Amino acid sequence: MMQNKRPRWSPEELDLLGDRDKTYAELREILPHRTIRSIKKHCQIIGIYRSKESRRKSGQFLSPTECEKILQDEKFTQKVDGCLLGDACIPRPGRALSFCTANKEYLEHLQSYFGKKLKSTARINHNAAKSEMRDDGETWNTHDSYSIRYGRIGIFGHFYKRWYKNGSKRVPNDLRLSPELCLRWYIDDGSMRSTQGMQITLHTDGFLKPEVENLCRKFNGIGIPAKVGLVGYRKDGETKCTIRIFGKDVISFLKYIGPSPVKSYAYKWHLRGYKERSLTCPFCGKKVRCWGFAPRKSCGARKCSDQIYTLDRERKNRQSREAYQLRKDRKIKNGT
Ligand SMILES: [Zn+2]
Repeated sequence: MMQNKRPRWSPEELDLLGDRDKTYAELREILPHRTIRSIKKHCQIIGIYRSKESRRKSGQFLSPTECEKILQDEKFTQKVDGCLLGDACIPRPGRALSFCTANKEYLEHLQSYFGKKLKSTARINHNAAKSEMRDDGETWNTHDSYSIRYGRIGIFGHFYKRWYKNGSKRVPNDLRLSPELCLRWYIDDGSMRSTQGMQITLHTDGFLKPEVENLCRKFNGIGIPAKVGLVGYRKDGETKCTIRIFGKDVISFLKYIGPSPVKSYAYKWHLRGYKERSLTCPFCGKKVRCWGFAPRKSCGARKCSDQIYTLDRERKNRQSREAYQLRKDRKIKNGT
């Protein structure tokens, strides 16, 4: 009969196995008198590591050092922060980043980045439109949508701590605006209006007023003037606020974030002829540059605008005089 030379596993040793961030080899280092085989066996007994090992084998596993490296990648954190300002979320307890949108093309674009970066083979789910009867008798319609989840607790646990207070999304104080962040945010929550002047609105209804004001200050800090707009009240009584950018600052914003990464969102960049034009004032001869949909008629100074008004009035008077004369001539011709 073979004698087992090693003592039984102590609770302290088993506790060490609970550290999910350590690989078997690393565990072997802190437990020198145990074999890898024995470590594996006990991991299996207490029900951890098996799934992680299978992911490691298939090349989908990120080690703690790899996670750390990804978290230090500025482009990655800016992208995730931007998506979180928009529609993305991290469900409790912070194991995964989840996207849900009606635009499949954009989700594929995100997948091409996040899938590679996070070594994930997560796939896009299609959630078909449905109609449900609610308890209060009203029907609840949903549209076709697509979703994807990237599970990486070592990375998104960090974002969850920064972004969530008591389970709801809050803008972190250390948030820094960058082109990458604003681009993701604008795609999810931004809209452009181009009638009656240019305006970009960032729909920040989900955040509290002080947070929106803080974001506005950050915009002013990067040289893009923005204003808080009040749009009503939420169910919990808090004010609903949006961020608005006007006129030529719209162009500054679009230049700052760069072009749309997907064709299906290009309409959010469509300026409909709004551009900067130069003109020489026909009244005072001054050269000016101004923004608008159509060329202006004067430099905008009071004296020159008044002249346009006078000319307009004279033209209208002349036209009505001519029309009157025409009618009179016709009457004479017809002999009435
Ligand atoms: Zn003028």
